[in-house]
Amino acid sequence: MNSQQRTTDRAAEDQREPVLANDGLDDGFFDDRDGPRDECGVFGIYAPELDVARLAYFALYALQHRGQESAGIASSDGTHIITLRDTGLVSQVFDEEKLRGLSGNMAVGHVRYSTTGSSGWENTQPIYRADNHMIALAHNGNLINAVELHAELREAGATFRSTSDSEIIAAMVSNSKAATIKDAVAEVMPQLKGAFSTVIANKEMVVAFRDPQGLRPLALGKIEVPGEGEARYCFASESSAFDIIGAEFLREVEPGEMIALTERGIETQIVCPGERRAFCVFEHIYFARPDSHLEGQLVQQSRGRMGQILWREAPVEADMVVAVPDSGNPAAKGLSRASGIPMDDGLIKNRYVGRTFIQPGQELRKLGLRMKFTPLPEIVSGQRLIVVDDSIVRGNTTRQIIGMLRDAGAKEVHLRISAPPIRNSCHYGIDMSTNEQMVAYGRTVEEVAKELGADSLAYISLDGIYEAIKGERETHCDACFSGDYPLADTDRATGKFALEELGLAAPAATAS
Ligand code: SF4
Repeated sequence: MNSQQRTTDRAAEDQREPVLANDGLDDGFFDDRDGPRDECGVFGIYAPELDVARLAYFALYALQHRGQESAGIASSDGTHIITLRDTGLVSQVFDEEKLRGLSGNMAVGHVRYSTTGSSGWENTQPIYRADNHMIALAHNGNLINAVELHAELREAGATFRSTSDSEIIAAMVSNSKAATIKDAVAEVMPQLKGAFSTVIANKEMVVAFRDPQGLRPLALGKIEVPGEGEARYCFASESSAFDIIGAEFLREVEPGEMIALTERGIETQIVCPGERRAFCVFEHIYFARPDSHLEGQLVQQSRGRMGQILWREAPVEADMVVAVPDSGNPAAKGLSRASGIPMDDGLIKNRYVGRTFIQPGQELRKLGLRMKFTPLPEIVSGQRLIVVDDSIVRGNTTRQIIGMLRDAGAKEVHLRISAPPIRNSCHYGIDMSTNEQMVAYGRTVEEVAKELGADSLAYISLDGIYEAIKGERETHCDACFSGDYPLADTDRATGKFALEELGLAAPAATAS
């Protein structure tokens, strides 16, 4: 390895938090909530005058909700790329000293969620590769043709250190014979199928590109250079990451667009014009932070409208509205406003329950979900409650919450959900249960209500969702609700662990 290709991947194996295995009871105890999980958040910035590593750190901090199992930043000073990534939260992976070691002209960053089995260090990002092009890459999304591409690359002699589809994109770009990184990306983009909101740094620039359907979000921001009267630019999965670093949201990266941030400013090109936009409607419902703007709408307000519409579609006689905190809060407020029924905090959430804690044992487990939510009998006792949450996947948490509220004296529990029933898996970057594990799969709404122990249950309609986000079905993906997958060949998607199941990863993962 020559000095031009220096990288630092610090495994810090001994610092990893143990991820304790679920003991098979599958009762939702280990999940913060048993909802769907976004898989990643990305950030990129070109700003030689600014402390890019620190800005990346704070931006990732704002994107932490998009992934809590690993975090990483790669910076480039025009000569080297330094990558520091590890399992854990942003605040656990980085400290002052590590950030100082990441000084440079530009940086890309990543936060990741993965489930047990592929949450190892080797799948953390940004991914560093130095085949023909030296790059660091951060990706949010999921490729549906990962297995085919992986096989083609291996046949061409490429080796892999991870089992994530993100390294496939990195390998394709890094192995490209194209003269520039932009040409390499333009060559690779048409070969990728699925969701990819991606940022890459090399020695000269930061390049962002998004799939032709625009499935996952990616935004462009502007940041002033103090005293210089000059502006630099950055990318983030969500606009709320710009707020925390004092950047201004400019616009979303267009589906099929590639944008390069260089010394000269912004260069943009539509590489793959999409036949159909298909932005993930679930980002509006659940994934994105409430203070992010998506498609021109403030997420908090869209969710409030979902609650109002839910009330219009499914009113019920009740005394009190209770949100399942925090994700149910905005819709519960909207429902309370529309109905005139007062809202109160009947459930308190313990905010510091992570996914890695000591086994509770059977006795404690019998106490149910008190680690995560505590009902307040003084508030809910004798009341007819409307309990509002944003979605139900397997239903374990919901069932236990209803049980706790009844134990606390609630007279009736009417469940209102600000998403339609989820009956289909996502193949575009969201980790959900299999169809059979979903409580709504193969069940009517009445059957789900019975299964969960609710006196009544209503989900918002799909039309109601589009009314709330002021958008149209034709430009969104709602496949997990409707089963209408916007991409051809989605049925050939091979699942999140396909590369592992096929044993396609290189046997040893050594950091260079
Ligand atoms: S299937 Fe659902 S979660 Fe996945 S992209 Fe489509 S709307 Fe989003």
